[in-house]
Amino acid sequence: MTNAFKSGSGDGELRRYPHLFIGGEWVAPADGGMVESIDPATGRPWAAVAFGGPKDIDRAVQAARDAFEGPWRRMPGWERAAILRRLAELYREFAPEMAVLETRDSGRAIRETRADIGAHHQWYHWFASLADKLSGRTIPIDDSVHCFTTRVPVGVVGAITPWNAPMLTTAWKLAPALAAGCTVVLKPAEQTPVTALELARLAHEAGVPPGVLNVVPGYGHDTGARLVAHPGVNKIAFTGEGSTAKVILRNGADTLKRFSFELGGKSPHIIFKDADLEQAVNAATSSAWSVCGQSCALGSRVLVERPVYDWVVAAFAERAAKVRVGLPLDEATHMGPQAHGEQLAKTLSYIDIGQQEGARLVTGGRRLDAGDLGDGYFVEPTVFANVSNDMRIAREEIFGPVASIIPFDGEDEAVALANDTSYGLAAGLWTGDTGRAHRVSARIEAGIVWVNTYRFIRWSTPYGGFKASGWGRENGIEALDNYLETRTTVISTTGRFPDAYAQ
Ligand code: ADP
Repeated sequence: MTNAFKSGSGDGELRRYPHLFIGGEWVAPADGGMVESIDPATGRPWAAVAFGGPKDIDRAVQAARDAFEGPWRRMPGWERAAILRRLAELYREFAPEMAVLETRDSGRAIRETRADIGAHHQWYHWFASLADKLSGRTIPIDDSVHCFTTRVPVGVVGAITPWNAPMLTTAWKLAPALAAGCTVVLKPAEQTPVTALELARLAHEAGVPPGVLNVVPGYGHDTGARLVAHPGVNKIAFTGEGSTAKVILRNGADTLKRFSFELGGKSPHIIFKDADLEQAVNAATSSAWSVCGQSCALGSRVLVERPVYDWVVAAFAERAAKVRVGLPLDEATHMGPQAHGEQLAKTLSYIDIGQQEGARLVTGGRRLDAGDLGDGYFVEPTVFANVSNDMRIAREEIFGPVASIIPFDGEDEAVALANDTSYGLAAGLWTGDTGRAHRVSARIEAGIVWVNTYRFIRWSTPYGGFKASGWGRENGIEALDNYLETRTTVISTTGRFPDAYAQ
């Protein structure tokens, strides 16, 4: 195997990834090329990465299909599990370095990537434990037939991931897909291609057979689009924007493949006046600003009951002053830059829109470009008060560190506001009243509702959207449904079949 990885040894030297990973080998792109990956903290390239084109996707899909038809789908579940467990352990060992690489690529603060990536091995372990338990059921009918179902892998999966949490969203797809017996072509986001190639190396070392995981970095409009349209791909697992999902659906329509989508959110974080307000503000501020606001699960609409509204707004302003925005590899940094220049421009434009719509800018709102931060994509943690739910800053996903705080009166209005959105990914509510916790959570239209906590997500907790937030669930046993077909078998115990034309 060619050594695909060379570290840059000095300032200004690029870390080089000259190969794609296809069919268990490191290969040069057939119709792609080398593309520089930008460090969002400096605005300068830090790595040079091979991007594949449509021909490379064709090669990767062929390799994935060969592997699927070959050993992988027929391998007993416990053997697939053993390979996944080896991958989990290699991933655990490499996690500290993977965290640094993800921080370089995405700009996310090292304290966040370390905690996040430090847990990813759990996904591979947990789904490994399910790989030999993919049983169907028997369906009682009568003595004349024996009827049962079998769960079979859907086939070749195209996994398309975003730039905000590249390795987490990959684990959410790869672990259940491999456990189910599928093979995968992974196309990471063009802004964050590096970690997927490192993952390919780990998978190879763990003994994942050639072709079972293929990694082809590339752009969405050609490389991603070819993966979506390819007739040899049985399923697309996608995390990203709703507008991209619609394009993917159209491009994939001709082949009627399967789709699962984890899309955006504008999640309500509801604070009732009877809540433990300190805890609620801990959760609401961190969920507004972590990942620099670039996570679909964040509670970007903070709904606050009117008697405690001013107190909560003041507490947000106080916390914002404590957020250390800085270079993402600095251990002290709470919040790094936005992941790319376009996203920074989008966030700043929404901050303008909020002011034009008449919301009150309580704090933040500016790009930070002094000193070390000069060339990066840094922005202040931002708080808007007096937001009404019909403003664009309350309806559209900003994906920046911007909290929109909206007042409400009573439970019914809280629920109405929470549900008055096209999205339905997640919601949080804070209350000291157990009855209210049950009543309100049951009325919320979202795939996950957190009560007196927020962003609690594990390998075992199903996660996905109602409404425009997506199709299907990742994580939990439900995630396997994305990668399995159900075959129903009906066996006659008599072998007798009436002649329909006898009379
Ligand atoms: P984000 O705003 O989070 O980048 P996108 O939806 O633009 O969300 O991108 C998520 C992923 O989708 C990326 O890997 C990107 O390359 C890919 N992508 C973008 N456009 C397409 C497309 N037309 N077909 C397939 N993949 C695409």
